Amino acid sequence: MTLNPNIIGYRCVSCGQECPPEPFRYTCAECKNNLEVVYDYASIGSDWSRDDLTANRDRSLWRYLPLLPVSAAPDNHTISAGGTPLVTVTQLAERYDLAALHIKDDSRNPSGSLKDRATEIALRHAHELGQQVLVAASTGNAASSLAALAAFYGKQAVILAPAAAPPAKLTQIMQYGATLCLIDGTYDEAFDLSVTAAEAHGWYCRSTGINPVLSEGKKTAALEIAEQLNWQVPDQVFVPVGDGSIISGVCKGFYDLHQLGWITSMPRVVAVQARGSAAIVNALAGDGAIIPVKADTIADSISVSLPRDGLKAVRAVRASGGYGIRVSDEDILRSQKQLSQDTGIFAEPAAAAAFAGLLQALNQGQVRHGESVVALITGSGLKDIPAAQQNLVFPAPIKPDPAAFNAFIETASQSGTLSL
Ligand SMILES: [Zn+2]
Repeated sequence: MTLNPNIIGYRCVSCGQECPPEPFRYTCAECKNNLEVVYDYASIGSDWSRDDLTANRDRSLWRYLPLLPVSAAPDNHTISAGGTPLVTVTQLAERYDLAALHIKDDSRNPSGSLKDRATEIALRHAHELGQQVLVAASTGNAASSLAALAAFYGKQAVILAPAAAPPAKLTQIMQYGATLCLIDGTYDEAFDLSVTAAEAHGWYCRSTGINPVLSEGKKTAALEIAEQLNWQVPDQVFVPVGDGSIISGVCKGFYDLHQLGWITSMPRVVAVQARGSAAIVNALAGDGAIIPVKADTIADSISVSLPRDGLKAVRAVRASGGYGIRVSDEDILRSQKQLSQDTGIFAEPAAAAAFAGLLQALNQGQVRHGESVVALITGSGLKDIPAAQQNLVFPAPIKPDPAAFNAFIETASQSGTLSL
């Protein structure tokens, strides 16, 4: 099976070396750095239009097939990654004097995170390459995503995850029937082992930051944002950042649309990292070089010491006119609670970091009044209940009688959780 004929090849993000689309390779032959997929936009634009999308009733990410690095969509993709809502939050836009504030709620994907977009592409790509076993290192979400969608598409998944990953994510992996190898070590160590294992066993490697097709899946979040806003892109898009793969993908999505002439400008894409895991934001503030940190944050999905897509991310954010923001774990947890009670969206800490970054940017004047903004929520809060519980005080049980209930309501009114 041949690849999408719209793909010219791959280009190294470091040395610029280009290589043909086939045979597929993960990294640059010259310098071993990461590759990005290069498309023939003139060819794509000649037989695909925004009107074609309007007429397409498939709401999944496969509606963007001409911009994806595979030859065809799976015949049955009714599990439907992508097609998540862009939630318009009018009350917050008014509070902060913004033209518009939207939440792209990617917690609504099949396994509860944006990673399902990348996994869809990886599974199809592996299928077209004739491979049955996929291996991935993950802080949790990519792993639970691979486990879920591999179950749907009939592939085998081998997962390497840090033993300290949140129990809900490890439970998902086991529940979907993947082979889980717990690593007594960090995500970074699990990553290195996954690359070695893929080479040794001839498996398809779905680890983020080495496989160039993963960003192509993640970029569909940006394609959807633009389409949902009727091709009027926001001024700024806030993205939580760990490895740098999601934000690279988001930038690539807007870049693709700009190249096609479907949007007239690029939004500024803002990288938000936890203060204890900020190698990419540090690089954005410095000379662009990635210097590893010793990651320490409650936001497990973005807890990364050496971001494997760091260089790609820094270049992409700079090209968009964006910038970086560091947020504390306290800000992340406070913003996680505020996001839930102001919007009805329960984000995991890493995803809430995007909203924390937006609030900080508002405070610091990096977002101006009258601008339109989007915060990308990359994963569900149900994946890490203990983190959210740190900010909650549960009520003591009462006796089941009206007097006790009235006393309870009185207390709730006084504490401000209920206004009667
Ligand atoms: Zn290179």
